Amino acid sequence: MTDRKSELETLRADLTARLSRYEAHQHREGGALDKDFEEQATQTQNDEVVDSLETETRAELAQIEHALARIESGVGDECESCGEAIDPRRLQVLPYTTVCVDCAED
Ligand SMILES: [Zn+2]
Repeated sequence: MTDRKSELETLRADLTARLSRYEAHQHREGGALDKDFEEQATQTQNDEVVDSLETETRAELAQIEHALARIESGVGDECESCGEAIDPRRLQVLPYTTVCVDCAED
């Protein structure tokens, strides 16, 4: 379980770093859009991609925080939905999960 926690903390650090790269991209620190028109079109497309990546990353991060909070309160390996123990193999594959396989399928 300690392993799972440190794994989650590593994941969290990774995602946080990724998020600040996305934010830097979005705010483009230092600049207007490129003068070249074609380049501009590509950048706009990139922005949309980065936008959805950012949303995705935020959701993942929230899930990780949530799993970590449950670990902190000593219920990290209990299913949030039914209260049964979550299969350790499942936690190994999905360290950020907070529900057992049965509840995840519902
Ligand atoms: Zn369950």
